[in-house]
Amino acid sequence: MAFLKLLFRNKLAAAGLIIMGLVVVLAVLTPWLPLLDPDVTATGDRFKPPFSAGHLLGTDHLGRDLLSRLMWGTRLSLMVGFAAALIAALLGSTVGIVAGYFGGRTDNIIMRAVDMLMAFPYILLALAIVAALGPGLVNALIAVAAVNIPFFARNIRGVTVSLARREFIDAAKLAGMGHLRIIVFELLPNVAPVIVIAMSTTVGWMILETAGLSFLGLGSQPPQADLGSMLGEARSALITSPHTSAVPGLMIFVIVMSINLLGDGVRDALDPRLRSGALTRPRAVTQIDRQQPAPEADGASLLALQDLSTEFRVAKRTYKAVRHVNLHVAPGECLGVIGESGSGKSVTALSIMGLVASPPGVITGGAGRFEGQDLIGASYETLRAMRGDKVAYIFQDPLSTLHPLYRVGDQLCEAIRSHHKVTAREARTRALELLAAVRIPNPESRIDNYPHEMSGGMRQRVSIAMALANDPEVIIADEPTTALDVTVQAQILSLLNDLRRERQLAIIFITHDFGVVAQLCDRVAVMYAGQIVEEGPSQAILDRPAHPYAKRLMACVPDLGQGRRELEAIPGLPPAVDRLPDGCAFAERCNKASQACRVGSIELVGTSDGRRAVRCLDPEESLS
Ligand code: ADP
Ligand code: MG
Repeated sequence: MAFLKLLFRNKLAAAGLIIMGLVVVLAVLTPWLPLLDPDVTATGDRFKPPFSAGHLLGTDHLGRDLLSRLMWGTRLSLMVGFAAALIAALLGSTVGIVAGYFGGRTDNIIMRAVDMLMAFPYILLALAIVAALGPGLVNALIAVAAVNIPFFARNIRGVTVSLARREFIDAAKLAGMGHLRIIVFELLPNVAPVIVIAMSTTVGWMILETAGLSFLGLGSQPPQADLGSMLGEARSALITSPHTSAVPGLMIFVIVMSINLLGDGVRDALDPRLRSGALTRPRAVTQIDRQQPAPEADGASLLALQDLSTEFRVAKRTYKAVRHVNLHVAPGECLGVIGESGSGKSVTALSIMGLVASPPGVITGGAGRFEGQDLIGASYETLRAMRGDKVAYIFQDPLSTLHPLYRVGDQLCEAIRSHHKVTAREARTRALELLAAVRIPNPESRIDNYPHEMSGGMRQRVSIAMALANDPEVIIADEPTTALDVTVQAQILSLLNDLRRERQLAIIFITHDFGVVAQLCDRVAVMYAGQIVEEGPSQAILDRPAHPYAKRLMACVPDLGQGRRELEAIPGLPPAVDRLPDGCAFAERCNKASQACRVGSIELVGTSDGRRAVRCLDPEESLS
């Protein structure tokens, strides 16, 4: 159902589906429709024009009723086209799955055979097959199916190869499943959408190919009508009686067009990446929908978020991922943003440079100022010039942020040259400096490595080098050490720490680890359900957390060398951000919550010097 809904959102695909549906229904009903016999000749009635009495579409060169021949011909062409597509998909996919799954020599032998088929122009190959088997519709069907097998085999093999090396297949093998069961129950469900997509985009093609063979007289044999043979027979009267060619020609056009529109729609609707969002391309900048004008600039911070709100609009639901967040950093300062997974840290960070995917992301209010200039609503060109140059990001997963097919040095050079006009040699020298700056041993040899030749820690250092490439003023690091082990984490933290002291870099460091905050951050903001619930100097918050959530978050962290201590997990789960409760979002899980905590909205209350603030009616520590 969801699939149909998505399909119908694409107007052209819906039109294709409706037209195709009509044609198919008519073709199925043809034997029961009150039509003249398609094969009865009446030489007296030759070449009657359309709309003549008794012949709605006129007659052909033998006086046969064109409407009747069109209906029967469409029926036959559709049947042959679909049958050929089914056969090609079945055989081709089987060949592709077997080759991709078993790999090695099996793969080699099968794929070379497929390559040989592919080496001939397909229509020549089809002609050769029909020539060998003799003309006839069934042989034409076999020929069309055969020439399309390589297409399916190649496509499906590619998908299978990447799936067959995945962990869930290994797990199935380790569980003792046989090859057949793995193929049928593990591989096939993953490959099936690709098969359907390949079919839906090739059926039209196959109908055309069958028509082509019939046109040449190699498919359906007289008097049997199919669309191709009708065209072929009408060829000699193309000038004198154009309607005899126009009728089957138009039908072929309608069928192929509607199938292709439908096929495109099916492909889009089945693609899992498109399923969650709308069927439109993501924009280059997050969509902005500010209800109120941007707040005035206050004070001179390097980067400041004022009252920033970002939500995701998916179908009828609105996920309020970030609500009225205020943050700021000064040069040389490190601000920590901490919170459970899903609390809105990444969305906050991405909103600054308009990097939240839209749709479904929308920034609904606030400002993000870099040196006073509001970035929310800035043009794509402005943002593009700043991304990576003034404000750089480091993401969590170093393997997925580096391109697997380029050498790390080339990727570094690309980062430099997209913002500065320098020669390739200068860029390379700079890349070497950067690699040395992030303490990669032997930068001269490492610069020509591919990402997979490096360890996780090294790759993350390359990402940091890339973020540093243009000497940015601010680095936003989104859990950059979560995927690394503790020794590498320590090295990377001290690296970032040195960099900010040497270069007066401002860092926004997103993490869920209080240990990291203690080591690196001057100030920290604690996020919960899209809001900041507490902020202040790291040491003060670590020593005396005021918000119950911050306090309990810290109680979850084990202390080394502190002997036995009971670790308290926080009971319950954070609220879903599309159904936020009234009042404090943490009230459900808080042992101090009272009735007053569950109404209205709870404000962030700061001390008079502005150093600390907490969003709680009954804080654990009094701040003043
Ligand atoms: P984290 O603090 O772990 O970085 P995120 O900022 O990634 O959390 O996510 C914040 C909230 O936004 C989460 O509740 C998440 O479910 C929601 N969210 C993120 N991306 C989308 C999306 N594309 N559609 C709907 N909700 C989303
Ligand atoms: Mg995140």
